[in-house]
Amino acid sequence: QCPWGARNTTSISCSLADVMSEQLAKELQLEEENAAFPEVVATAEGPFITGENIDTSSDLMLAQMLQMEFDREYDAQLRREEKKINGDSKVSISFENYRKVHPYDSDSSEDEVDWQDTRHDPYRAAKPTTTPRKGFTGKGKDITTKHDEVVCGRKNTARMENFAPEFQVGDGIGMDLKLSNQVFNALKQHAYSEERRSARLHEKKEHSTAEKAVDPKTRLLLYKMVNAGMLETITGCISTGKESVVFHAYGGASATEDKVIPPECAIKVFKTTLNEFKNRDKYIKDDYRFKDRFSKLNPRKIIRMWAEKEMHNLTRMQNAGIPCPQVVILKKHILVMSFIGQDQVPAPKLKDVTLSSEDMKKAYYQILNMMQQLYKECNLVHADLSEYNMLWHNGKVWLIDVSQSVEPTHPHGLEFLFRDCRNVSQFFQKGGVAEALNERELFNAVSGLNITADNEVDFQAEIEALEKMNEDHVQNHGKKLSMFSSDGDPPIYNE
Ligand code: ADP
Ligand code: MN
Repeated sequence: QCPWGARNTTSISCSLADVMSEQLAKELQLEEENAAFPEVVATAEGPFITGENIDTSSDLMLAQMLQMEFDREYDAQLRREEKKINGDSKVSISFENYRKVHPYDSDSSEDEVDWQDTRHDPYRAAKPTTTPRKGFTGKGKDITTKHDEVVCGRKNTARMENFAPEFQVGDGIGMDLKLSNQVFNALKQHAYSEERRSARLHEKKEHSTAEKAVDPKTRLLLYKMVNAGMLETITGCISTGKESVVFHAYGGASATEDKVIPPECAIKVFKTTLNEFKNRDKYIKDDYRFKDRFSKLNPRKIIRMWAEKEMHNLTRMQNAGIPCPQVVILKKHILVMSFIGQDQVPAPKLKDVTLSSEDMKKAYYQILNMMQQLYKECNLVHADLSEYNMLWHNGKVWLIDVSQSVEPTHPHGLEFLFRDCRNVSQFFQKGGVAEALNERELFNAVSGLNITADNEVDFQAEIEALEKMNEDHVQNHGKKLSMFSSDGDPPIYNE
């Protein structure tokens, strides 16, 4: 006999009801978890972000929007008091340091410090800075509409009382709080959707990939752009790549920093998920323009550097007259530029259009020209040039996607150029352009170098030798060789 007593041989019976209730319990728990920790922020249907239609389901977002309103109101009050105290007195007291939104650093937060110092292309000589942005002391719209805003704001606050009693509005009603219409509407929408929540417990929300790709912080920044009147409507996503998400937007009426906002904009949001960028390190790490900063930066700043690089490179191209998007504004990891396309339809990539043989030939010569201009006038190598990053619009080719572009003296610059040449010449040779140079000829034509190797391997070897020579020169002299003179006879690799 077993010392531990008789073995229990009866199998545990399990009724169908038990199984089902267990499943039900699991489902309920999942549901609850999903509600408590939504994987993504949901948006209302229709346009992605507009003045009226903003994401109201994220508490963080709402809180931040409210905070923005509070801060604005607080600062306005501060200004009024400052004025009252100072009056006509010759000595005045400034409350500047007590302001919530500092005029020179309106986006302040722990890691939002230094894009301001980098607005200018580090390669170019710094231009004399223009007058600093004045926070809220500006004239015009801001002030004239203020009264309406205040009155209307108070009304909105009072109207909050109409929300369902369960809906927490905090101390807002007791205080003399003025809500802007936008915030009020957001809160209203939120309140209503809260009311409906129980009714649609089983309703599964649909999340587009675009929404998945954008975190609340990015959303807030986008919202701010709309709120500032810079953008009218962010209509939706036109591309989700590994490293970026691109949105289409209609430009707003307000011009910032003397810039006219194009009627249609593309917003490139560089993804803040880091792993995807690892393989891009080589482009930026060795780019001497960013060398000093690279080591000191945290990963988020490195991502911002990509956006910044794209901005500088686009500006150079624009200055050289190369067809490319025009930079509108850079905010952290978000680059707003002009939209290549029309009525929300982006221009097709070269790989997706069927061109007549005449247009094909025209496109080829245009690209050859642009590559030379890029190299000689912009001192840049695209480094990701292919039919994927060229758009066909208004009968010509537009270059995009230049965040990874480097200067030719980048330690791998010539290799990148060779790869670009290979892509271009293969595309056009396959596309039936008889005149298309092969990749080696194209390389020489663009760089002005005269590498004579007649096969791929030797050619590549010579390229690497040149790069090495340049690097050695850096080691010994602490600076790069200039690779070409301005009048276009380039091969000055040997001193
Ligand atoms: P990625 O690094 O994801 O390739 P791109 O800059 O190439 O980023 O943009 C992705 C896609 O978004 C492009 O292929 C193009 O279709 C679209 N796109 C990007 N910028 C613009 C723009 N300024 N105008 C129109 N479409 C654009
Ligand atoms: Mn691309």
